[in-house]
Amino acid sequence: MAIRKITEYPETVLGEIGQPVIEFDQELADLCTDMFETMYDAEGVGLAAPQIGLKLRLFVMDCDGVKLVAANPEVISTDGEQSGQEGCLSVGKVPAVVVRPQKAVLRAQNEKGEWFEREAEGYAARAFLHETDHCNGKLFIDHLPKMRREMIIKRYKKEKSWT
Ligand SMILES: [Zn+2]
Repeated sequence: MAIRKITEYPETVLGEIGQPVIEFDQELADLCTDMFETMYDAEGVGLAAPQIGLKLRLFVMDCDGVKLVAANPEVISTDGEQSGQEGCLSVGKVPAVVVRPQKAVLRAQNEKGEWFEREAEGYAARAFLHETDHCNGKLFIDHLPKMRREMIIKRYKKEKSWT
């Protein structure tokens, strides 16, 4: 088990569409363990494979009582709307208000390759959407209007230069 290095904006891998997970073996189980460890260490509620430099459709999350591994994730339906603060470990946790659906149904495979569907609302639904986006090479700031996106990136770069 190991804590992995978190990739940060604007590293290329964060903007690339992940490859499907095909092998559900011990290597994948170990990777998921590392991802949970890395996520908890960084005090995040979700972590996708591109965030540790892997071009793979895989994420882990532990958010608002929903703890799961999602390989080849897809949000198959959404409902309603919520507006709330969101941040990302790859963008220095700089928060921004993002409008998302209130409810989301996730379809994915667990670390054994078994398909499941899970419905969530509120914060956990937001995590489904945010993490599935990562697997498609999309960041939460891509949902913001250009001006606000540039503001967040500016703030992120400024904060990064302090550390
Ligand atoms: Zn993120």
